Amino acid sequence: MKSQTSTVLLINDDAAIADCILGALASPSIAGFEVESVRLLSAGVTRLAKKGISVVLLNLALPDSNGLETFTKLFATSRETPILILSETGQEEVALLALKAGAQDYLLRDHLNAYSLSRALHNAIERTAVEDALYLEKERALVTLNSIGDAVLCTDIDGNVTYLNLVAETMTGWTRTEAVGQPLTLVFRIIDGATRQTARDPMEMAVEQNRTVGLTKNCMLVRRDGFESAIEDSAAPIHDRAGRIIGAVIVFHDVSAARAMSVQMTHSAQHDVVTNLPNRVLLNDRVSQSIALAQRQHRLVAILFMDLDQFKVINDSLGHAIGDKLLQSVSQRLVDTLRASDTVSRQGGDEFVILLSSIDSREHVADSAKRIMLALSKPHTVDDHHLHIRASIGIAVYPEDGDNTDTLVQNADTAMYYAKDSGRNRFRFFDSTMNERVVERQSVESDLRHALERDEFRLHYQPKVNLASGRITGAEALIRWDRSEEELVAPARFIPIAEDCGLIVDIGKWVMREACTQARSWLDSGHLPIPVAINVSAVEFSDEAFVEGVRTTLATTGLNPQYLEIELTERVLMKDVEATASMLRELKALGLRLAVDDFGTGYSSLNYLQEFPIDILKIDRSFVQKIPTGPGDSLIVNAIINMADTLKLLAVAEGIETSIQRNYLQGHGCIEGQGYLFSRSVSAEDFSQLLEDDAQITVG
Ligand code: C2E
Ligand code: MG
Ligand code: MG
Repeated sequence: MKSQTSTVLLINDDAAIADCILGALASPSIAGFEVESVRLLSAGVTRLAKKGISVVLLNLALPDSNGLETFTKLFATSRETPILILSETGQEEVALLALKAGAQDYLLRDHLNAYSLSRALHNAIERTAVEDALYLEKERALVTLNSIGDAVLCTDIDGNVTYLNLVAETMTGWTRTEAVGQPLTLVFRIIDGATRQTARDPMEMAVEQNRTVGLTKNCMLVRRDGFESAIEDSAAPIHDRAGRIIGAVIVFHDVSAARAMSVQMTHSAQHDVVTNLPNRVLLNDRVSQSIALAQRQHRLVAILFMDLDQFKVINDSLGHAIGDKLLQSVSQRLVDTLRASDTVSRQGGDEFVILLSSIDSREHVADSAKRIMLALSKPHTVDDHHLHIRASIGIAVYPEDGDNTDTLVQNADTAMYYAKDSGRNRFRFFDSTMNERVVERQSVESDLRHALERDEFRLHYQPKVNLASGRITGAEALIRWDRSEEELVAPARFIPIAEDCGLIVDIGKWVMREACTQARSWLDSGHLPIPVAINVSAVEFSDEAFVEGVRTTLATTGLNPQYLEIELTERVLMKDVEATASMLRELKALGLRLAVDDFGTGYSSLNYLQEFPIDILKIDRSFVQKIPTGPGDSLIVNAIINMADTLKLLAVAEGIETSIQRNYLQGHGCIEGQGYLFSRSVSAEDFSQLLEDDAQITVG
């Protein structure tokens, strides 16, 4: 039993009907109804508008209105209140019209009894409640569908569109009215973003598998006007109450932004920020792919490890902004020089790794390396600077030098060190002996770090002699390393390494102090006074504190500067002509002498010989060795001697091993020389003996 009372509005002017109804509703078998009666339509309309009426019983024949019109006027007042028509038997026609127009039902006066009336009233009220609820639910669903961000599209079992929400309308370019009834494949055109083939009909899949299916990855929706957007979607079958599939619903949304973001993020993770070139991660990927391909096709893959010579100097002196632009310029040249199928990557700093895929010969690789070096050698214009940069390249080739990325890159790196070592601006192919040398090099470097504190360095001295008299005119200090091996280690095996790791500066200071102390001691012991020459490498010379170090050493050892000579190579002198010139003048001002070592092996302009305050030219051993053993001339030797003469420099020939060489040089005006013919380099003690013997000759 309902506890609630429903209010029935009876609009009726017929007393008989009123009696009948009131009588029926008063019956004890009917409970829960309260009746309000009015006799005019106008009164009924007024009452209905006030709300609170659950159901209306309406007689169409009223004093102020008659027939169907009575119903339509009332219905217009409130569409949600159920209206039951009271009809005379034989007048059902009008009642039926009212039914069509929206009346809930009609009751025949002759059949009215308590039971049927109560059932009719209950039914009317309940049905309206159900309809209300249904309406609400549908309304809620529609509002929801139109307010969610996802597009929703429904089809019937034949694949025709039955519904689209607002987002779906926007994304497909079809309005609901246009789309409904059209085949899904026309309204919802999707293609595979990669292949651009029509993607599978999602509805078909959902129906076939009778479950919710996620759709093809990388799916693109083609709007009615052709515009494409990346979408992600799913489809689910719709069932009727009997569980039969009657259609499908497809839900999709635009993922263009997310996809673009993910593309962007993938790009950043795989590319270098400064140059936008692939980074290590992407390179590794590409190398693995190339190796797999090369394996099948029996071809080669080359890894070029490239390091820019002197990039650090530019970066340090002109700043990172310029450094970055230079790297960008280098990248561009590399990309322009190579094939699109090759990969140029930046490993960080001034190191680049280049992958040449699918090549047929080492010659091809060598050609590429040459082209790269040529392309880079043209000046790079960065802001107002014209920058010159050179590169050293190491090359490892699959399959000989490794069958995986790490080994190939590592070996190319090793080969690059060799390229640098053998004079920079060149390329070297990896060979397996290099690794042994790398190990050796590392062990030298670690031992070298302790060599100074363990007092393992020795200075040997080689006499310089007057070619005519054979008398000693000076000594050159040459370093040796007593590395607990049988023989002393020659400078060629450790000086370049000491230069690389910066240890040369401390070693150089030791050499200078030791040589000055020794020179002072020879002077003090009353030997013939001779100057001692020391060798200074580029790294030491570019140290700002160098001149000051020389001054201090001269002061602490008490050596008269005229007994010190400094030997510099052409390469050192040509680095930065102005800075060098001013440094050389400072050194000269201290009172010592300056020599150009290994003269003729550099590629420098001869102009500087006039600019720089130089005293001595040491003719490189290689020219001396080419002095013909028979009649004939060595043009270079002659030229150097003549030039020295013109510039009022002392020419000293290095590496004289035979009397023929000595005689030739002497005959062509070279005053002094050095070489095994006179003496190898010897310990300080043995050199004292040489000085002694020399004095004997003079006395004798
Ligand atoms: P350098 O200054 O040109 O020294 C001459 C080199 O030629 C020395 O080799 C010397 O032993 C060698 N030599 C002299 N006469 C002859 C000869 O008749 N025939 C042949 N075949 N060789 C001869 P060493 O001592 O091995 O030194 C090699 C290089 O190492 C030097 O070339 C110099 O550039 C560098 N070096 C030596 N000591 C030092 C040092 O204390 N500091 C620096 N920075 N470099 C040094
Ligand atoms: Mg020298
Ligand atoms: Mg030399």
